[in-house]
Amino acid sequence: MIKQFVPQKTCLACQGCCRFAQAKSVWSVRLLKEEKKSLCLSTYNLPLIFASTQQQYMCVFFMPCKNKCLKYAQRPFECQLYPFLLNRCGTKVVLVVDTHCPFVQKTMHGKKFSAYAAYLAKLLRTKRYLAIFKDNIHIAGRYPGVVNLKELFSFT
Ligand code: SF4
Repeated sequence: MIKQFVPQKTCLACQGCCRFAQAKSVWSVRLLKEEKKSLCLSTYNLPLIFASTQQQYMCVFFMPCKNKCLKYAQRPFECQLYPFLLNRCGTKVVLVVDTHCPFVQKTMHGKKFSAYAAYLAKLLRTKRYLAIFKDNIHIAGRYPGVVNLKELFSFT
């Protein structure tokens, strides 16, 4: 598991994640190949369900009554990474942060944020992660409203 940046209490009090405005959202979770198998899901993007009362889609694993993830202890790599993401920029993959996250808005100019971004970039450049990304390049998306932090690697 990746060390978390946003405190759990802050996440549980927020209504932002795991819900999406469209069925095909750039923000819906991209699974690694092995996660797709272990979660028994057939696509790279998690299936979403429509919640008619709130006119929005949500991840199949999200429990709106508790504002929690049913799979939290085994949540996908992308969910562990968030509010950080892998962004594709030509042939480069860049570590970015989502500025829609209220905790990021509050902290992104502080020392703790810089230290965490450095920790994450170092971790994601290790052989183990580079091998995972090589086999799962689809997890790098093209996200709007993000801020570039560090270039991680290039692919051809
Ligand atoms: S797997 Fe869990 S953390 Fe990830 S989007 Fe679904 S509900 Fe949210």
